[in-house]
Amino acid sequence: MAGLNEISIKKLYGVGEVRAAAYARMGIYTVEDLLFFFPRAYENRGDICLLGAARDDIKSAVLLTVATEPRGVRIRRGMDLLRFRAFDDSGSCIITFFNQNFLKDKFPIGSTFRFWGKVEREGRGFSMSSPAYEPYDEQKPLPSLYPVYRLTEGLSQKQIQKDIAAALLLAKERLEDHLPDSIRTRHSLCTLAFALRNIHEPEDYKSLAIAKRRLIFDEFFMFALGLATAQKAQRQKGAPRCVDNDVSTLLRRLPYSLTGAQLRTINDIRADMESDTPMRRIVVGDVGCGKTVCAAAAMYIAVRNGRQAALMAPTEILARQHYEDMAPLFAELGIECRLLVGATPASEKRRIKAALAAEDESRLDVVIGTHALISDGVEFAAPGLVVTDEQHRFGVAQRATLAEKSKSAHVLVMSATPIPRSLALVMYGDLDISKIDEMPPGRQRVDTFVVDDSYRARLDVFITKQCAAGGQVYIVCPAIEERECEDNEISLADITLFDRVAEKQPPLKAAEVYARELAERLPHLRVGLMHGRMSSAEKDAVMQSFSLGECQVLVSTTVIEVGVNVPNACLMIVENAERFGLSQLHQLRGRVGRGQRKSYCVLVSDAESESARRRLETMRTTYDGYLIAETDLSMRGPGDFVGNAGGGGIRQSGGVSFRLAGQCDDPELMGLATESARELVTVDATLADYPELRRAAAAMFKTDSSDIS
Ligand code: ADP
Ligand code: MG
Repeated sequence: MAGLNEISIKKLYGVGEVRAAAYARMGIYTVEDLLFFFPRAYENRGDICLLGAARDDIKSAVLLTVATEPRGVRIRRGMDLLRFRAFDDSGSCIITFFNQNFLKDKFPIGSTFRFWGKVEREGRGFSMSSPAYEPYDEQKPLPSLYPVYRLTEGLSQKQIQKDIAAALLLAKERLEDHLPDSIRTRHSLCTLAFALRNIHEPEDYKSLAIAKRRLIFDEFFMFALGLATAQKAQRQKGAPRCVDNDVSTLLRRLPYSLTGAQLRTINDIRADMESDTPMRRIVVGDVGCGKTVCAAAAMYIAVRNGRQAALMAPTEILARQHYEDMAPLFAELGIECRLLVGATPASEKRRIKAALAAEDESRLDVVIGTHALISDGVEFAAPGLVVTDEQHRFGVAQRATLAEKSKSAHVLVMSATPIPRSLALVMYGDLDISKIDEMPPGRQRVDTFVVDDSYRARLDVFITKQCAAGGQVYIVCPAIEERECEDNEISLADITLFDRVAEKQPPLKAAEVYARELAERLPHLRVGLMHGRMSSAEKDAVMQSFSLGECQVLVSTTVIEVGVNVPNACLMIVENAERFGLSQLHQLRGRVGRGQRKSYCVLVSDAESESARRRLETMRTTYDGYLIAETDLSMRGPGDFVGNAGGGGIRQSGGVSFRLAGQCDDPELMGLATESARELVTVDATLADYPELRRAAAAMFKTDSSDIS
């Protein structure tokens, strides 16, 4: 029997070429894809209110009894109305449907329905147009949560719901639960069938939470499995031994002496590169702790041993910055180093590629560029080391591609996200870790304040003052999803795995509007704007103008691109700070205080909940990135570290299918999933007995090259 991943959605009744094409735009091709296309939110139809109590700005659920026979009225050609009256204890409501005369017999007088829609006041009564309706029967309670899906052109909610219902029906016969039963029961997880049914058509809130827990467990579990199996395959390939690992010449050229943590890291790297097992090491340390020089040392070692080194950064501007930092140092050591980015002229690109592939002494030893470097048909004559600067989150998929492309080379990854050990084991299970937990001497502390919106005027004055003194200001707003939840919807992200009530969140500040208003309030300042919908060239241009000081205030939604070093920046303002993970906030704070200027971080939040306040208070009083990360993990679970939660919209690059893991608020779950996966691999290294699992784990690492740029 064909598995759900082998059945095209076109096999579903009613899905033709056109709708299939619409689904394809969302990456949905098979019935399995469709089942794993989760709602973004749920309409809260369970809270039934009286007509008189319904708000006119949001949809409500009302329970009405039909009072008059539905009557058709022709308004004009092609426009028929169907109208009737229905009531509850608070009043009477005219209900209108457009061009749906076939509903005529659906509403017999005296029958009761639950209607869902906007209730408008009309004279002394009420009206609703084209509400959703369900016959009401006291004996059979109606579900209270209705799925709402992300849409694309050519698809409606109704169609998706119908297709999903069909897919669920098919799943009844064909769905296989790939998770071994023993693991499932040990961790009190529901079956996959239950999970998929309830994520789409929840029986109630509790079932939805149970479903979500299982699906999140699976993501971590598959991820860990994928890592564990990939690791086995990679480590076996031989790597060039770099025995000549004396870096003293390089260190002597530095204008400072290394911290103990930097020395330890470099020693780790030296030992790794000496071996013919490829190095797979990540250097983790707060922004500004001095990871770059460790990477430079590794590159230097590769070159000393007749090998080539490549450094890749997530953006062009970061690549350029690394190049500017490193090229002079390498030049002093007699090592040639070139920059290869999208903007590099074609002729220069050709020359660099030829030099990288050269078998003679014209060979280029060091190249610095963006991730495009690896996907752009670049061949290395003598690959030795690939360094990637992640700067932000876990580019896990990139690592997978990289491991693939860099074959037997040594690999070094730099990450500025301090993460708790338990999490590091999960996320970086395939990498050895060097932790730089010490800052170079003389670093200033960034004074941190937590304020609410009533400080707006004072904040404006502060911004003006900093700019007048020649400083620069970052303002970060959380990214806003394509469409925010309606007031009467519950976002899937807010479904907690525990029985707690989701916190009421203050509304989000949109970066675009924010930047405009700021520019109006402070017309004497040059304000730049950067957001996720800009192309990377546009973002680079804005970032460039900020780093050159052309714009004084940078309003931005994306955190990633802020990774550039602008020593002149002395004020970091984070709006809706409650929406960010603490580690994210900590990283943002690290973007200022990098130069001589006294620097500040202001966290703006109107959140009233106890937990939001506690978290922001932690930021105010704690400066240790690891301590902050631990607190974050224990208070919010690992979601923020996985990405796509908190600040929102920070999309995981690459194709790793973390759909829900970013919403995980259970600190335990990830560890349980990882442990279970590891145990399984210990028993059955190639997952020979679990072909389904092997496939699912591999799918986690399905890379999408368009994301790697
Ligand atoms: P990050 O870890 O964020 O990549 P960098 O490597 O860019 O940090 O280092 C930040 C700054 O600190 C750079 O200007 C670098 O020259 C400087 N630096 C690095 N190590 C030391 C040190 N041991 N002593 C003094 N300054 C250092
Ligand atoms: Mg850096």
